[in-house]
Order: sequence, then C-alpha cells, then structure tokens
Amino acid sequence: MVPLPARRALLAAALGPVGRRRLPRHQAPATAARPSSGAGGEPEAEGPGRATAMLQHLLRKLRATGPVTVAEYMREALTNPGQGYYTRRGGVGESGDFVTSPEISQAFGELIGIWYVSEWIATGKPQAFQLVELGPGRGTLTDDILRVFNQLASLLSKCDVSIHLVEVSPKLSEIQALMLTGGKVQSNPEDESAYMKGVSKTGIPIFWYRDIQDVPPGYSFYLAHEFFDALPIHKFQRTEKGWREVLVDIDPDVPDQLRFVLSPSSTPATENFIPPEETRDHVEVCPEAGVILQRLVCRIEKDGGAALVADYGHDGTKTDTFRGFRNHKLHDVLRAPGTADLTADVDFSYLRKMTQGRTATLGPIKQREFLKNMGIDLRLQVLLQNSHDTATREQLLHSYDMLMNPQKMGDRFHFFALLPHHRLVHLDKKQKPKSPVQPVAGFGELLLK
Ligand code: SAH
Repeated sequence: MVPLPARRALLAAALGPVGRRRLPRHQAPATAARPSSGAGGEPEAEGPGRATAMLQHLLRKLRATGPVTVAEYMREALTNPGQGYYTRRGGVGESGDFVTSPEISQAFGELIGIWYVSEWIATGKPQAFQLVELGPGRGTLTDDILRVFNQLASLLSKCDVSIHLVEVSPKLSEIQALMLTGGKVQSNPEDESAYMKGVSKTGIPIFWYRDIQDVPPGYSFYLAHEFFDALPIHKFQRTEKGWREVLVDIDPDVPDQLRFVLSPSSTPATENFIPPEETRDHVEVCPEAGVILQRLVCRIEKDGGAALVADYGHDGTKTDTFRGFRNHKLHDVLRAPGTADLTADVDFSYLRKMTQGRTATLGPIKQREFLKNMGIDLRLQVLLQNSHDTATREQLLHSYDMLMNPQKMGDRFHFFALLPHHRLVHLDKKQKPKSPVQPVAGFGELLLK
C-alpha cells in the first residue's frame, strides 16, 4: 500500500482542495438507484399519446409477424428511433426513472478519472489518449472525469486528450452537449465519422457517435457505466421437451395487452446460446453485449488502452433479472413499453468468455471495494472538511452511504476491467516474467507517481 499521507497528497493533487461541481448536487432519492426486485410499487397507468403509439406499433408488428424475442421487444422499447424510451425520454436522474452513481456523488466520477490517469501513467504516459464512454446518460460522469483531467492539467499538458461519446439517443446527446460544452456543438461535421462535435468547457474536443465502430482507432480508455444492462437480452426456459425461448406475444384475453409465451420448438438462439453444461432452468443471454465487448477487445489488443465496465450483475449464476423502472419504482416490463427503463443484470462470466483470452480481465469486484481502493474515504474527508453547512455535509454522507453500503449499491454494483496482457505481466526476451508491473488501481492499491 502507498502510505496514507502520500495517498492523501496524490488525491489532493488530482482533486483539488474542494473541486465541487459548479451545479448543485442532485439530492439522491431515499431508495437505491434501481430498487432491487420486490421493492417496487404499483405500475403507473399507461397514458395517451406516445406510450399508446409504441404499443400500437408493437401490436401491429406482432399481428403481422407473430411473437418476437424478448431481445427484439427490448430493442424496440428502448431504442426505437421514433418512440424508444432512451430516444425520447432518457430517464436518468432524480426527475427521471432511475438514478445512477455519478448522479448521486461527484466522488464517483472523480475516482474513475483518477483510474484512467493512473493507467495512463502505468503504461508510460502515451502522447495521446481517447476517452470513449458508451451510453453517457446525462454526461455527468464524463463531466466529473474532465474536472479531474483539468486539475491534473500540468501532468497531462503534453498529452493529446479527446472525448468520444457513443450515444444513440438524440435527446440524451443534447443534454450531454449542454452539460459538457454549454450547448456549443456542430451537427454532422464534414470529414468526421461523428454525428456531432464540440469542445468541452476546459478545451478538450468531444465527438458523438451512434456506434463504437465509428470511433477512430487509437490508444483509448473505454468506460461503460450502466450501459451493458440496457442492451437487449434473450430469455430461455428449460422445459421437459428441452430449451425453449421466451417470446412476447399479444394476450388473446385482454385487448391491447402483451404477455410472455414459450416458443413451440427451439429457436436459432436456443441452439446457439445455451451450452450443454448449463444447470439453471432459466437463462438470460445478451449477444449484443458480447459483440460490443469483442469490439473493445480487438481495439485494446491492437491499439492499447483499457476498458472499465461498471454495472450490476452476476457471474453466470442468476436467472430472471429482467426488470422495468419508472419514476424510481419497479414497473411491469410488458406494460406501456417506451415509458419505462428496461434492464437486466450483466453476466460478467459471459463478458469474460467473450474476450476469448485476447485481453486480460480483472474483477468483477464489488463497487465498495473498488471505490475504497481508489480512496473514496479520503475524498469524503476532504469534501466534508470544506463543507461548512450541515445540509451539504448530510448530503455528502448520504451519497457516500448510497454508493458504499452493501445493502444499497456497494455490493450490487461491480467493476470489471479489460487490459492488454502485457499490462499485467512483463515478459523478458526468454518469455519469462520480468520485474513486477505496477498494480492496477481499484483492483488493488492506488499508485500515482
Ligand atoms: N452511463 C450513464 C447512463 C446509463 S443509462 C450513467 O451512469 O449515468 C444507459 C445509456 O446508454 C443511455 O445514455 C442510453 O441512451 C444509452 N444506450 C442505450 N442503448 C444504447 C446503444 N445500443 N448504443 C449506444 N447507447 C445506448
């Protein structure tokens, strides 16, 4: 471990004496970010207008084609270009449907910013890096990271830093642009694969894309916080006749209502996604997460960098985790599609398998362990020392509790990293492990030198 005074000095350098966000903090709601199953209230009634339009669209589709997979249903409900939940509503934040760690506490994004700087140092301070965030929500996490980069401007002065946001939602990209650039952006810039570009308040170029494949190659740090849980899953059920896929269909008994049915026979997905050794009776698989993860792996293998994935999830043990959230309450996933967030726990064992050993992986480790290793206790102390009113101090303690309490987000959320193999083991000319490499912050100790 780095001695405490040294760690305090390093954190202070990175975070400044106070370094508060300029905007007032969101007061985190009393409930957890997304309440765990069983904690929800009554689903709200479906309103006229958009919800009906999305439901009508799905009903027409189901009448024409028959039942659809849960993945197809989820994709339509969340990212349909006209009426998808993220496309139109966005939902992140206190006034939305769920609140995320960066919305709860500025310390979260700051410590992640330090993680990237520590990786940049550990890999010999390359001349340039791209920070690529997948699904940036309101842009709060990137904003907090940029504040850390700004505090460390002298350290990063010779490094060419750029920000690349992968976002499908026009509504959320507008909110991100406002947060990060004050709204000064150029749409559809020529000579760029980005659909929008701007410059951060601290002078760093920012680009927006719909797909990770559009982000230019180069040494990059990737970030996916509460992104993989929003990607469409397939659901499978073991029956006496073998595995069947769970599908979404029209309920014949209730007008305009949807229901789950089982495929009458196996589907291509059942054949491809359930390994023979599977012991669970109900399984969820997110092939889109696998595809995106493999793209990250290829890029890290070729150009270097690292990826940090933070989400709630399990290691291939859970069964039925598909949930809806609206106004911070559990919401029936088949009710009023397009008006509620739909999500499923991330299967980290599947993500690890998808790397095919081409990068090293670290974690998943619990959020409270990662943040503790990153120095959240010191950061809290500094923020408390610099807060002179009781309400702010109480809010800081409340936010810390939300992130760290094992009953809240501390044990539910996990951190998982992808790194080039050479980051963890240095081999000499005879392919024997050389001098010990610098440990990776968060998953062990924090070293910044
Ligand atoms: N990372 C943010 C927000 C998480 S919500 C936070 O922690 O606060 C999920 C985000 O992923 C939203 O920004 C949503 O619009 C985006 N998203 C969902 N599906 C996507 C897809 N297929 N491609 C790109 N972005 C997507």
